[in-house]
Amino acid sequence: MIPLHRPFVAPRQPEYLLDAMSRSITQGDGYYGQLATRRLMECCGVEQLLLTPSASHGLELAFWQLEPEGEIILPAYNFPSAGNAVLRGGGKVILCDVDPHTQNLCPQQAEALITPHTRGICLTHYAGIACHMDAFEELARRYHLLLLEDAAHAIGSSHRGRPLGSIGDGGCLSFHGTKNIGCGEGGAYLQKADSSLFSQMRTRREKGTNRHEFLAGSARFYSWQEVGSSLLMPELSAAVLLAQLEELEAVTACRLGLCRSYDRQLQPLFDSGRLCPMVCPEYAEGNGHIYYILASSREERDHIQHFLRQREIMATSHFVPLHLGGMGARLGYHPGDFPVSEKTADTLLRLPLFYGMEDSQVDEVCQAVTEALS
Ligand SMILES: *Cc1c(COP(=O)(O)O)cnc(C)c1O
Repeated sequence: MIPLHRPFVAPRQPEYLLDAMSRSITQGDGYYGQLATRRLMECCGVEQLLLTPSASHGLELAFWQLEPEGEIILPAYNFPSAGNAVLRGGGKVILCDVDPHTQNLCPQQAEALITPHTRGICLTHYAGIACHMDAFEELARRYHLLLLEDAAHAIGSSHRGRPLGSIGDGGCLSFHGTKNIGCGEGGAYLQKADSSLFSQMRTRREKGTNRHEFLAGSARFYSWQEVGSSLLMPELSAAVLLAQLEELEAVTACRLGLCRSYDRQLQPLFDSGRLCPMVCPEYAEGNGHIYYILASSREERDHIQHFLRQREIMATSHFVPLHLGGMGARLGYHPGDFPVSEKTADTLLRLPLFYGMEDSQVDEVCQAVTEALS
């Protein structure tokens, strides 16, 4: 059987876990929390970073702090995390269609949705491929909008050399077990530079207290300052995360190599128009998070998927567009509202991709896809 995904296990994980236990796992931001935070800050080129229990919590923290009493534009082809974060922060979700080549938010369509009530745009870098940041940064400047990045897929990816998640006003990363680097469940909130926003977010993250000031020695005791919650990454998870981060380059290189191998072998099907390839624009440097193909119809996609299943190859579709779920209907959206997102949901097929996947397994998948279409 070839699985879609297999979680990466870093060589030093057991050692760091045992060491963490012999130190203290009493609370987050401990020895390993601090090391993992520093390592990630270097990797992302940011000055401010908070480890969180998940990417979803990172986004919630950001929108909770921003309290955007206004509209936030999101891609319809998306995971629900950003939608939840906007709604919980008191904002209004405005869905927008995506670009058919990258499945990322389409700048032209996003601009058409900007009104006097628009407060921001929350991008998702699908498959770890950067959104068109030049266009979105220009929109943010021109209309005075906040730009947030859901970089859950995108650890190790960049836009013209700038790490994803570090470009907008704030971003999140995910270390869920299905991502390139993971610690079971985990995430981070990051931003380029310091701001008052960040200091208040730390307070919210630590039960609404200024415990971080107390730990840094700048307060004699800590007390209740804000409405807060408990949004730290557990120390044991941070120990796993550090071991994983140390292997980030090797993991990314392996995954990108597998993607190139897929590209080479599927090229005849792209040339003949039987399949559409995923596109990596010139401004994007990817991380091999997802390798997908686009079939010409839902029937054809389902056929390929079924054919692969019979050979014990796990290939799957991905997001159900946000407007097609019960929540989308409650927000006033209808089927047909976002045709590209719907077509993507119908025709996209993710192929197996994981660290340690053998070249012969890529050959086997490509062989099966080719036979399914012959
Ligand atoms: C996985 C994922 C998330 C959620 O990440 P968690 O760390 O599980 O909260 C958010 N957005 C996107 C695009 C994702 O793929």
